[in-house]
Amino acid sequence: MSLNSADLVALFVAVAEAIEDDKGRLSELDGVIGDGDHGVTMSIGFLAVRKALDGLDAAGEAPTAVFNTAAKSFLGAVGASAGPLYATAFMRAGAAVKDKASIDAAAMADVIAAMAKGVQDRGKAESGEKTMVDAWLPAATAAQAAAGSGSLATVLQAAAVAAAEGAESTRQMVATKGRSANLGERSLGHIDPGAASTALIVATMAKAVES
Ligand code: ADP
Ligand code: MG
Ligand code: MG
Repeated sequence: MSLNSADLVALFVAVAEAIEDDKGRLSELDGVIGDGDHGVTMSIGFLAVRKALDGLDAAGEAPTAVFNTAAKSFLGAVGASAGPLYATAFMRAGAAVKDKASIDAAAMADVIAAMAKGVQDRGKAESGEKTMVDAWLPAATAAQAAAGSGSLATVLQAAAVAAAEGAESTRQMVATKGRSANLGERSLGHIDPGAASTALIVATMAKAVES
């Protein structure tokens, strides 16, 4: 199985809906160690992506164009930290599937790895700094490990499990990047909201592909 541009648009719509449904929880997590807007910023971003993709003739475009459209609309809509981080992630995802008509298991692993690297390059956070990197990087590693023998669903399932574990692991971390770094030791014991939304995004992708 592989995803063409229309399938990829459907995946973005599924993620936008999941973020919408869970934005209250994401903002609550951000309220504890940040400024309480993460659910709102992600919701604004994905609604803008959804609107922009609505206006795209997906059948006439390659997956790379879908990612580039997502990048531009997310960046234009979101002023918070997540804006440039996800815009870069989507741009890199687009570059990873350049010239491809569809995304198979190996290409999806490349997409997730490119997103993880994009977030890291843009935000300069390393593993263990209590950011979304702590969910994206393990997701990328797991996706790439599964890509050799696995199907698209297997790759996304592996990535989803790793992202969820990664998000949970941020509970034990002291924030040293982003707004919650201001809290220092007081950020201990709380899940990073950006890592939580990453886990939600990857889980939604996995679920959408398996169904
Ligand atoms: P803001 O902090 O501007 O209100 P959001 O609330 O939308 O932005 O996003 C906060 C999330 O962004 C954090 O939980 C963290 O995961 C992520 N984040 C912040 N700074 C960085 C960074 N430098 N690298 C990676 N992720 C980061
Ligand atoms: Mg915030
Ligand atoms: Mg904010």
